Amino acid sequence: MLGHFLEIYPNEIFYSICVRYHNLTGQKNYQGTAKELFDKKHSGRGLFFPSNISVFTDVMNQSMGKNCMNAIDIINNNTIFPLIKPFISKQQKIRLMSSLLSGIPKICGIADLLAIPENDKGVIKFCNKCMKKFLKEREEGYLNRLHQVPGNDFCLIHNNVLSRYEKSNKSGKIINILNIDCDSHVPEKVSKSLQEEKRNFSVDIEYIMTNKLRDESIEIIRKRYIERLAELGFYKIFEFMDYKRLYDVYINFFSKEFLNDIGFYDSDKDYNSWVQDIPFIKKQSSPIRHLLFIRLLFGSAKAFFEDLSL
Ligand SMILES: [Zn+2]
Repeated sequence: MLGHFLEIYPNEIFYSICVRYHNLTGQKNYQGTAKELFDKKHSGRGLFFPSNISVFTDVMNQSMGKNCMNAIDIINNNTIFPLIKPFISKQQKIRLMSSLLSGIPKICGIADLLAIPENDKGVIKFCNKCMKKFLKEREEGYLNRLHQVPGNDFCLIHNNVLSRYEKSNKSGKIINILNIDCDSHVPEKVSKSLQEEKRNFSVDIEYIMTNKLRDESIEIIRKRYIERLAELGFYKIFEFMDYKRLYDVYINFFSKEFLNDIGFYDSDKDYNSWVQDIPFIKKQSSPIRHLLFIRLLFGSAKAFFEDLSL
């Protein structure tokens, strides 16, 4: 057990806290770390859906002899729960919260919902400049949860594209984020316009994850979508929704390059699959799709959620 308080950095993803702990204690394999942190051999550190966070905080508080960590605060500040929360039903929110706290129930359905783009699978993402600054100041790196969001590829502090790093090596060993070699992982160069689209998307992600939004129900959110579709002339009561036109507007609003990048470029034949789902069908849809839909119809996540809370 680590003999001192493990500081949690701003927006640090829970995975990063566990991996830093693992690296700091010098445990040979992660099972040993999981046993210490979660009192279990296989548990805990999933990048998007960790589990047993309340066991982790109990173990940490006990070892420090004081209440320095709170499981709900960790879920709100150090996981991607706030990104998903607005777009799932009340019952799913309770299930997901319970799963993050205790590991029960298992949440396969919600994990699928994230629709992780191909180039985000099995990698961690970081901003070279953030990482270098931190390595210099603190002698250790950490992973920002906003950067890990599927499809997000931008650091709003430094206005640059993120770098990618394999999460574990071929033998399954977890990478050491205390000492990432930034110079050998430079971000890919992208055009100015693509950079701007990535930036806008990142602004929406940051807004939704770092502002304590009022707990609106998904039904209210869908109702607002339908009202807006009517305002924009896509839909009239007692008439069919003009999905084809909505799809055309969508596909011209974002660039094909950007949509491909985040894994949401749909060919023509798919046009009515997701645009129908989001406002009308009571089926879960990826939070990323909701964010695209919101930017398309309302301009930004900020504009949408501020308007909703009036
Ligand atoms: Zn940065």
